[in-house]
Amino acid sequence: RAKSQQRAGHFYFSRNMGVEIRERVRMMHALRTAFSQHELFLMYQPQIDLATRRPVGAEALLRWRTRDGKFVSPDRFIPIAEYSGLIIELGEWVLRTACAELVRLRAAGHRDFTVSVNVSQVQFRHPQFLAMLRQALDDTGAPPEYVELEITESMAMEEPHLLVEMLAEVRGTGVKVAIDDFGTGFSSLSHLQRLQIDRLKIDRAFVTEITGSSRGSSIAEMVIQLGRNLGLSIVAEGVEDERQAQVLFHLGCPLAQGFLFARPMPAEDLMAWLAGEARRSA
Ligand code: C2E
Ligand code: MG
Ligand code: MG
Ligand code: MG
Repeated sequence: RAKSQQRAGHFYFSRNMGVEIRERVRMMHALRTAFSQHELFLMYQPQIDLATRRPVGAEALLRWRTRDGKFVSPDRFIPIAEYSGLIIELGEWVLRTACAELVRLRAAGHRDFTVSVNVSQVQFRHPQFLAMLRQALDDTGAPPEYVELEITESMAMEEPHLLVEMLAEVRGTGVKVAIDDFGTGFSSLSHLQRLQIDRLKIDRAFVTEITGSSRGSSIAEMVIQLGRNLGLSIVAEGVEDERQAQVLFHLGCPLAQGFLFARPMPAEDLMAWLAGEARRSA
């Protein structure tokens, strides 16, 4: 009995793996088709200055709506894009689209506004990444100082020498760099000090905890102190309620992003939302 159970277990396991792999291959094809048929698009989530409550920038977030109207989360399809190599083309499209949007926003009078773009490790490591970045800036006419790349803290910890060089090159173009999901990795102060970065983004997990236990808020507090000591800009991610915004502001966090202020929205809506904000604070 034990043996048949074992076999059954084994069979079940491998059949599941097959399903898993087939599903991945299916998604790879579907994603490629979706990309070529323009079913992928960007949404923009405003970033707010906590002192003035005015928008200072927006993060571009990739969306995939399938033909039957279902949304697939980037947390699911980005790994597939990375695995299949599609991320190289897709990431270039994201950067160009966000840069073009920045130019449009500037033309509409939003001149002190930054657009942030998430960059995956596979993209960042690609030998043509810098050439691609320069070309995208050139072709769109986006001012580099208003473009920010977000790399994750886990990326920031691998191969320090390569990364230090790469960041220096990126910064040489004038483009800014933020470390995303900060607090989830284990970067040391000395490591951070060697990296030419501009900004830390406090991971949502620590923002959520901020109004809960005192241990939770101490992580956000530590990140804010660290950022301030290094002269970096700091953005809190995933701010959902007013109390969190208040606590963050009192801890010295200058910027925030989250559902409290605005959800990610299509480019057309962002333009209208910004116009509304400008009227409101005029
Ligand atoms: P991320 O860069 O850390 O983006 C923040 C995520 O938090 C976004 O999820 C955003 O919609 C969500 N968020 C913002 N405010 C709130 C809030 O107040 N509460 C909650 N619960 N969530 C909030 P999203 O759009 O699903 O993106 C997930 C991740 O996918 C991103 O995390 C990023 O790592 C990746 N991603 C998205 N777009 C791109 C892209 O164009 N390229 C690459 N390489 N990765 C991307
Ligand atoms: Mg991000
Ligand atoms: Mg993040
Ligand atoms: Mg994330």
